[in-house]
Amino acid sequence: QHVNQHVNLDDLPIRDDLRGRTPYGAPQIDVPIRLNTNENPYAPSPALVADLAEEVRASAAELNRYPDRDAEALRTELADYLGHGLTKDQVWAANGSNEVLQQILQAFGSHGRTALGFEPSYSMHPIITTGTSTEWISGVREPDFSLDPGKAAAAVEEHRPDIVFLTSPNNPTGTALPMETISRVLDVATGMVVVDEAYAEFARQGTPSALTLLPAHPRLIVTRTMSKAFAMAGTRLGYLAAHPAVIDALLLVRLPYHLSTLTQTAARVALRHRAELLGTVDKLRQERDDIVDWLRGKGLTVADSDANFVLFGRFPDRRKVWEALLESGVLIREVGPPEWLRVSIGTGEEMAAFRAALEGIL
Ligand code: PMP
Repeated sequence: QHVNQHVNLDDLPIRDDLRGRTPYGAPQIDVPIRLNTNENPYAPSPALVADLAEEVRASAAELNRYPDRDAEALRTELADYLGHGLTKDQVWAANGSNEVLQQILQAFGSHGRTALGFEPSYSMHPIITTGTSTEWISGVREPDFSLDPGKAAAAVEEHRPDIVFLTSPNNPTGTALPMETISRVLDVATGMVVVDEAYAEFARQGTPSALTLLPAHPRLIVTRTMSKAFAMAGTRLGYLAAHPAVIDALLLVRLPYHLSTLTQTAARVALRHRAELLGTVDKLRQERDDIVDWLRGKGLTVADSDANFVLFGRFPDRRKVWEALLESGVLIREVGPPEWLRVSIGTGEEMAAFRAALEGIL
């Protein structure tokens, strides 16, 4: 079929606020060592795959029917996993925490409203914000990427955003937030406060979750995902915990039957196998701490990390380092402040390959 090569995006009657924007674009390149999107490097065991296949087979017999629209069984099991006395009516799920975040923005953002985040942080927060015609306000972090509680609260008081994003541990820096910072922000926020805990399971032992603050804060939303520690990125399952009224709000904007039967089935099987899936977290934490020490030993600057990735630098020409690593078959991520690179934690062998490749470049 003939495609007119002279037509591009700018020729379409696209929304003015989308003109000139670039899509989310972590490169998907087929190389031996992929350490660029913070996945868990360990694939499911044959036993888990067999159980999943069996459950999917059973679900397949009903695929002429729409899925459970409110994912009741899955939400019950997610609440059980989260603990803290949470119940199904305080938990919501969607296709990745990205969709969860988009539904939050659809319900609490929109034209004439604002969302504030402290950068550098997860690049999808501003993309989802502006994608829903919400105005993005960029707050700042300290030079070591921590958040000063007083300054964070002051920024929220000054801008009175409809939504505040707090990310703990933060992507791409790995920085975890002390409870004090979250509490200070909650105390002054007039809108919703989203604590994005995509990497919570990787945080150091003893790091409390914002889930503990839910009973006292009906405007707090804690988001989680099965894409990272849970080793189920391909399933696309994100979820949140919040006051039941927040979930009532999300029901107004979600598409009916947004979570497919197969997704719900896979997520429930994964939850059943959580001992196996989360069993790699300790190993990944150890690899993380080891790579931080190793990079520092090489004289590099490394941000403290509570996640399954490490931000390191500083490279006056980071693109060159990124390309040289790729050349050696190691894909990491060019993200964050200009002179920094981010490496996701892989298996022991993958990290050895990363170290060998980087050593050759330095
Ligand atoms: N939040 C943060 C901080 C992330 O880094 C990511 C994934 N990179 C997500 C949310 C979204 O993950 P998913 O949609 O796979 O749940």
